[in-house]
Amino acid sequence: MTSTPLIAGVELGGTKCNCILATGPDDIRETVRVPTTTPEETLAAIEAVLARWTGFEALGIASFGPVSLDRSAANYGFITATTKPGWSDTDVGLRLARHTGVPMAFQTDVVGAALGEGHWGAARGLSDYAYITVGTGVGIGLVADGLPIAGELGHVRPVRMAGDAWPGICVFHGDCVEGLASGPAIAARAGRPAADLPADHPAWDSVAHTLAQLLHTLVLTGVPRRIVMGGGVMTGVPHLFPRIRTLLAGSLGGYAALAELSDLDAFIVAPQLGNNAGPLGAIVLGHHALDAAASK
Ligand code: ADP
Ligand code: ZN
Repeated sequence: MTSTPLIAGVELGGTKCNCILATGPDDIRETVRVPTTTPEETLAAIEAVLARWTGFEALGIASFGPVSLDRSAANYGFITATTKPGWSDTDVGLRLARHTGVPMAFQTDVVGAALGEGHWGAARGLSDYAYITVGTGVGIGLVADGLPIAGELGHVRPVRMAGDAWPGICVFHGDCVEGLASGPAIAARAGRPAADLPADHPAWDSVAHTLAQLLHTLVLTGVPRRIVMGGGVMTGVPHLFPRIRTLLAGSLGGYAALAELSDLDAFIVAPQLGNNAGPLGAIVLGHHALDAAASK
């Protein structure tokens, strides 16, 4: 993969969409922000941006979900059964690709952010790593041998902390990781916003335990060489990092033979690209689309 081709990227989020024309972080030609309203209004506004831009060789799209990633499915590139009003069964990928005439790759928003951090941020140079966002939900972008693994690991069930029977808030599972450790879960448990909780509030014990359990599963699934943890909760509550490191080491009990685990400060880290991870991830997806087209 070279870093020179000009790529158009689109990151679709629940409240806003970011369009970016760039070859990489040091060469961003233009960014345009479009509010996420109805599908028709939003996608038409994005199409107008893409129609105005010239010279890009591929299109990368990273979208909020759930999305269909099966290239052989009739609904490939669709947002499927989302709780966001009006957006269920919406063609995003093929619709945006249609008029550009360039190769397109489509992924989840969190995989996009993972690819951005992997290419230019905190997991730079690695081909096996994970990116986790702990925010309104818990999302995981797991990359193995350079390729994103499809999955919904935010909904795995953790082993519960001893003595903790709080039922969680996931509408599907109750006490899955997202149901226990997302910002809204913390708020539901504590009775006030996560941002207002002091560091010694007992809710953090459960959150740190739950996230360490998620990492235990991740370490044994994709063998990531680094785990990048971001999102509003991790960014706002830095004391979670050392607690998660200690609890992960205890949970693994020395089992995983991964040299990187000997330096947990370097293994579990904060993101480096901030709000740019998603848009830059869409640029990496554009590179992937070019690579796929070239190998056909
Ligand atoms: P999203 O997941 O929607 O993309 P964020 O990653 O910003 O957005 O996460 C939003 C969540 O982060 C909210 O549930 C909020 O409660 C939580 N949050 C935001 N700031 C803080 C903070 N300082 N401390 C703890 N939680 C926070
Ligand atoms: Zn769940």
